[in-house]
Amino acid sequence: MVLAEQVSKSFGSNEVLKSISLEVRRGEVMCLVGPSGSGKSTFLRCINHLEVLSAGRLSVDGELIGYREANGKLYEMAPKEAARQRRDIGMVFQRFNLFPHMTALQNVMEAPLRVKGLPKAQVEQNALDLLARVGLAERSSYYPAHLSGGQQQRVAIARALAMEPKLMLFDEPTSALDPELVGEVLDVMKGLAKSGMTMIVVTHEMGFAKEVADSLVFMDGGVVVESGDPDEILTNPQHRRTQAFLSKVL
Ligand code: ADP
Ligand code: MG
Repeated sequence: MVLAEQVSKSFGSNEVLKSISLEVRRGEVMCLVGPSGSGKSTFLRCINHLEVLSAGRLSVDGELIGYREANGKLYEMAPKEAARQRRDIGMVFQRFNLFPHMTALQNVMEAPLRVKGLPKAQVEQNALDLLARVGLAERSSYYPAHLSGGQQQRVAIARALAMEPKLMLFDEPTSALDPELVGEVLDVMKGLAKSGMTMIVVTHEMGFAKEVADSLVFMDGGVVVESGDPDEILTNPQHRRTQAFLSKVL
């Protein structure tokens, strides 16, 4: 579902991703961990068209991100085509980024109404189903300011799912939450993983990684230091940098 081949990204002279290669198979969950500044967010942002690669190739579901290949050459995609690719990829950020002037239901309905042009009644029913799925059936008419951080983040997940993505990216989705609200968000993500969604999750929640992830990638300084089975890496990290990082978060 996701294939990164020697992906590099620089901001000016600062190379923050240095030849990252990895793959995520359909239906699998990959946890991406590493110290602050190691390039995790930048990598997710490259997948979702929020950044443009400096070198390498990135594809989702067999399609290059941002480029079209013809006669052995790469051509930049038209904005319309890039937008189509983006719609298939859901993203959930550390900050919930809900529209403050819209209710939970309106937040979930917004993109499908605007982009998909489906009948309103159908979009609304789908949004209500999604809110029920994240445990918020009773909160559909609440505004974000009247929801807890955990509830807001669950609305954000429902909102991303409303576009029926084939891939979900999570960038530290529980880092901004009070500790007692982390579990409810992780539970929703676990359910999503069980339903077969392909997910890349940047997180420091090693319990989640151990229980849910099919693979774990440890990044530091823009490179993949170590990757593989989460249990193995968490119990027996091979690299000094992985050991040092895990000793801080475990
Ligand atoms: P992480 O998510 O692992 O904490 P980031 O991907 O956010 O790391 O950042 C990696 C590095 O890239 C940092 O040094 C950061 O300052 C730099 N960086 C990220 N985005 C930008 C940007 N838009 N312009 C310049 N530098 C950036
Ligand atoms: Mg980050």
